[in-house]
Amino acid sequence: MIDKIPALAQLCKVLQQVPFLASKNLYKVTTYFLESDQEKIERFCLALLEAKRDIEQCVMCCVWKARDQQCVFCDNQKRDQTIVCVVETWQELMAIEKTEGYKGLYHVLGGALCPLDGVGPEDLTINILLDRIIKNNSIKEIILATNQTPEGEATAAYCAMKLKDTDITVSCLARGMPVGAVLEGLDKLTVYKALAERRPF
Ligand SMILES: [Zn+2]
Repeated sequence: MIDKIPALAQLCKVLQQVPFLASKNLYKVTTYFLESDQEKIERFCLALLEAKRDIEQCVMCCVWKARDQQCVFCDNQKRDQTIVCVVETWQELMAIEKTEGYKGLYHVLGGALCPLDGVGPEDLTINILLDRIIKNNSIKEIILATNQTPEGEATAAYCAMKLKDTDITVSCLARGMPVGAVLEGLDKLTVYKALAERRPF
């Protein structure tokens, strides 16, 4: 049926390209857009275009920032500039920020090592992190807060190996987090405790 309506086929095709949306909710999301009024659709498209135009990654921590503003972490002297919490993606950063218990800096790796999917160290921002540590000697501690999945743990082990010849303290989240835990899916208190009770890697 969709093939007979080119505009609908096109809409489904572009929506299908959005990861995590893909097959499961495709028709529901398509219906949402088809039933939205013109103004709502225009606001949606404009928000996407503006975000693409005005948001970039901070060259230091790789967290999103407004193109014409300073980084809310790296350039904020109220944050503890001696600790860097290393996370896989922005989602985990948001989970940690929600606890309101962490006041240091971040580093977003852009994912986790996954040889089966062809994701190697060069695909992540590990080199930017190492460079950052070399250039900035105020950093005293690195917290490896990758997800407790096989990929996340392999990524933490790789980072720790790269950091072992520095005099930086390398720590990781406390034990007691559920096996296979993804930070984003945990409640605030669990994330807070995992961070507060961190241990040497
Ligand atoms: Zn930054």
